[in-house]
Amino acid sequence: MSSVDSTIQRLTLGSSPGSTCTTDLAKAPWHFDAGAPSYGPGSSMFDAAPPATPRQGEIPAEYRTATDGELEDRILAAKRTLGDRVVVLGHFYQRDEVVRHADFVGDSFQLANAALTRDRAEYIVFCGVHFMAETADILSRDDQAVVLPNLAAGCSMADMADESSVAECWEQLQELYGTAPDADGRVPVIPVTYMNSSAALKAFVGRNGGIVCTSSNAATVLEWAFARGQRVLFFPDQHLGRNTAKAMGVPLELMPLWRPRKALGGNTPAELADARVILWHGFCSVHKRFSVPQIERARAEHPDVRVIVHPECPMEVVDAADAAGSTDFIQKAVAAAHPGSTFAIGTEVNMVNRLAAQHPEHTIFCLDPVVCPCSTMYRIHPGYLAWVLEELVAGRVVNRISVAPGTAVDARTALERMLAARP
Ligand code: SF4
Repeated sequence: MSSVDSTIQRLTLGSSPGSTCTTDLAKAPWHFDAGAPSYGPGSSMFDAAPPATPRQGEIPAEYRTATDGELEDRILAAKRTLGDRVVVLGHFYQRDEVVRHADFVGDSFQLANAALTRDRAEYIVFCGVHFMAETADILSRDDQAVVLPNLAAGCSMADMADESSVAECWEQLQELYGTAPDADGRVPVIPVTYMNSSAALKAFVGRNGGIVCTSSNAATVLEWAFARGQRVLFFPDQHLGRNTAKAMGVPLELMPLWRPRKALGGNTPAELADARVILWHGFCSVHKRFSVPQIERARAEHPDVRVIVHPECPMEVVDAADAAGSTDFIQKAVAAAHPGSTFAIGTEVNMVNRLAAQHPEHTIFCLDPVVCPCSTMYRIHPGYLAWVLEELVAGRVVNRISVAPGTAVDARTALERMLAARP
């Protein structure tokens, strides 16, 4: 099976049927790095990037003009030279042209932990997005440097909950609910942040008695929080929060949406009084693309199809699917199926296509027929990977992601609570 990159090239040239959300995906990211801060082409392109979005300076021309084959050779040679001194991590949603150079492939938390198994690695090159590199820096040793090949590889969902909006929300909630625990010792609100958030927010929840969750353990983490709090403030992904709490039996009317920068998040005090989960108004633009009509179409065309979607998808999509779960859940479900199974998968297209290539015994396709990868993952291109690796060979660390020590301590507290939380 061809990679998503080569599929987009063919779609753009008109030499292959099908469609892509934007033909700009056929251009390399450096065409967008020089412009105003933006998420670039792909599924998040219409989200507003915060003005403080890190800018990626222009990489040298030799990397921008090299052929795919030349970049491949240079990456392999640099990795060979660096040996055990470097570990390259590749997120599931990365393009194949990058992932093939990864020592580990996984989700953000799996990768941060995988890096810890490489004691001799001085450099952790994270082919993912900014919050993932921050998490790797928090969990790694002080003498290890975490490098993000393109600084513009952020995450539009993580950016939807900035530290000052969350602090403002927290202040309003404390004013409304007070801070005194009830007769059972439960405080009024426990903050819970999804792994897909900045280190500053992980530190915020760490300082305020809260916890981090992943898409694999969100239910366990909510149980942990309900044991200690009367309600939860869940950010930044409303869909993961809603889908998880709904499956645990929390009624929808007890899950108000908090719209940042609005008084009481756009709610009345009465609406917030009985809240069990206050959902931040954030979402992932990749998973927001999946829809119920796509599921109906997949079922009409493939009567035996099993539809599995990620819990970052909207609630109606999760409800209409056969199953919902993390990337790890999706992988395991595909691996455990009888040969000849058909799957329509609702998650990022690079991962779906890779699963299809790894499991030729099944029919696997992306639920969304339009080829539209995560625009921020897409900012990592082999040219940037070659550049950061060759800089390391030359003894220069570029694009280092460092979390301030005070922030790292509090964020680690929140991560450790997550690791200690048991089902
Ligand atoms: S897939 Fe969604 S949550 Fe993941 S990095 Fe892209 S925008 Fe962020």
